[in-house]
Amino acid sequence: MPWHVTAFYRFQPFNEADLPAMKERLREVMEASGVLGLVILAPEGFNGTVAGPTDGIEALKAFVQSWVEDAPVRFKDSFSNEAPFHRVSIDLRKEIVGLKRTDLAPEAEDNRHLSPAEWHAMLLSDEPKIIIDTRNDYETKIGKFRGAIDPGIKKFSDWKTYLQSTDLPKDIPVMIYCTGGIRCEKAILEMDEEGFQRVVQLRDGILGYLAEYPDGEYEGECYVFDDRTAVDAHLQPSALYSTCPGCGLAGDRAYTCEWCGDEFKVCAECEPKWKRHCSKTCRDRVLRRDRKKA
Ligand SMILES: [Zn+2]
Ligand SMILES: [Zn+2]
Repeated sequence: MPWHVTAFYRFQPFNEADLPAMKERLREVMEASGVLGLVILAPEGFNGTVAGPTDGIEALKAFVQSWVEDAPVRFKDSFSNEAPFHRVSIDLRKEIVGLKRTDLAPEAEDNRHLSPAEWHAMLLSDEPKIIIDTRNDYETKIGKFRGAIDPGIKKFSDWKTYLQSTDLPKDIPVMIYCTGGIRCEKAILEMDEEGFQRVVQLRDGILGYLAEYPDGEYEGECYVFDDRTAVDAHLQPSALYSTCPGCGLAGDRAYTCEWCGDEFKVCAECEPKWKRHCSKTCRDRVLRRDRKKA
């Protein structure tokens, strides 16, 4: 049975005092409907990616919608034959996306949110524009929009520093995007602060774009923060990458574990140290066996 995966978020103020009860109720709904995954709750809103049977995911969507007063929550769906998550995690945090800026209050919908069709048309148009990927370097490494600038940041909270250090012109329209749209909600407000005159963001991010334009302007695969490691242009779990046992990021070099015989993939940086074993447990056993032989 394939796992139905859905990603969603909403910026909407909640009373901090209400969050523990919301968390408990959500846990009950997820456990009752066989849904696993990570949901973050904060005074500024919620952000989650979860997986389960389709009827369970529908129950979860209805429950999440009950938190929201205005426009429907936007759910980005995909499917996986293997479980992308192994437990229910509900975290109470200060922010639903870690920029270290709890003072920013994104608009749910405004005319700077481009639909995938509007984004695609603007990419193909002749008008001058700059495209910037707001994700981290380990994400851009495996795929990005054609012609996009990779700011080379290690974590999202470096975005402001990047904006202040770059000499990009501020009077040319800038197009920004991320995985599912949430990072751009805050990134665009920091661009306003830095004086960029016209910025647009891709609503629903790469996941939303690929759902409509699998053969469009996005090149490579899209890194995701679960056991799929990445999804391809058709939103299918990656066949190229799996989680590197050394660093936890995208590995693309295939080996067979000397201890357990499992197939696994490591990244180029971890290859010298990790090509013999698929996990820390197997590494310890292989090293102990080496010592005995020696
Ligand atoms: Zn690695
Ligand atoms: Zn192993």
